[in-house]
Amino acid sequence: MIKIDPVYPDETTLVEAAKIIRRGGLVAFPTETVYGLGADAYNREAVKRIFKAKNRPMDNPLIVHICRLEWLEMVARKAPNEAYMVAERLWPGPVTLVLWKSETIPGEVTAGLPKIAVRFPSHPVAAGLIERSVVPIAAPSANLAGRPSPTTAQHVIQDLYGRIELILDGGETLFGVESTIIDLTTEPPKLLRPGPIPTEDIERVLGIRISIPDYARGLSEAKIAESPGTKYRHYAPETPLKLVEARDYHDLNYYSAKVLEIAEEHRSKGFRVIILASQETGRRYAEKGLRVIELGSRKNLYEVAKNLFNSLRIIDELRTDLAIVEGFEEKGLGLTIMNRLRKASRHDRVLVV
Ligand code: AMP
Ligand code: MG
Repeated sequence: MIKIDPVYPDETTLVEAAKIIRRGGLVAFPTETVYGLGADAYNREAVKRIFKAKNRPMDNPLIVHICRLEWLEMVARKAPNEAYMVAERLWPGPVTLVLWKSETIPGEVTAGLPKIAVRFPSHPVAAGLIERSVVPIAAPSANLAGRPSPTTAQHVIQDLYGRIELILDGGETLFGVESTIIDLTTEPPKLLRPGPIPTEDIERVLGIRISIPDYARGLSEAKIAESPGTKYRHYAPETPLKLVEARDYHDLNYYSAKVLEIAEEHRSKGFRVIILASQETGRRYAEKGLRVIELGSRKNLYEVAKNLFNSLRIIDELRTDLAIVEGFEEKGLGLTIMNRLRKASRHDRVLVV
């Protein structure tokens, strides 16, 4: 592991990391979303090693990362106008576009699918590494399959130490949740995974509606052809996680009373309970002697999203029997948060009304 300045990355370090990529090695690197585990997208063997290192099922495709708009035509074909509209406004940044795959990209990258997911990251380390590797970099999140995505280099060590050549430690990532994925091969475009950029923002850029299937809300599993990544266990801590949802979160007094009731019911049966709560309600549970992890304010969902995966990892370290997590309103980033929480809870959800 090598420390690297996230804003002004050291040239020698980037060149060293790029050499590893060129030789077919694996490098974990920070992006503005989460840490990625990268390999040369043109090198089949290197790409296969990503799946091995993560224990990732071979039918779950990777995202290809580029550092110049001109590279889009190297990896995708027939990119529609909409792709350039999004690219112009939101790239570099945390948005991934699904397009028709170019022939030159090996099928291992896309798990045999005819479509390819492409992203142009804004993080100076990610961009610098791709630039110096002079190849598109295929990268999923740098965690073991099924675990919460890594937002620090320490998380990458927890999961992948000894399995990969290099970890670039650029500190905590900015958004802390994976990119928004939009499929532009369908009409209308389809949200495959909500992320840091709200769907509403992309609709405004495109001037058209984007369809939001149930699986993008974390409500069901996708058919494999649509969004393969949504088919598997995801983000889940070892500790059982129960998600308490409400129709709306206007009456927090009432809502938190219900959450408290559920927590106390389990505690009275001898369970060690921990609650992942918003800043607005956390104190109420703590006052009753319950352990609380505060995710952030309901008025600043960026904060909640950023703290989410780290909190899911901490749950296991604290050795409790049950974690109860509060829900959030499904608007803007709230949709992104609820997608992750519904999957992390493996659909152990209660609705309080
Ligand atoms: P990760 O960033 O670790 O979640 O992995 C990349 C995710 O991008 C996958 O799990 C898929 O959900 C999505 N993805 C990648 N390529 C495609 C594709 N060709 N079609 C649909 N979704 C894709
Ligand atoms: Mg992942």
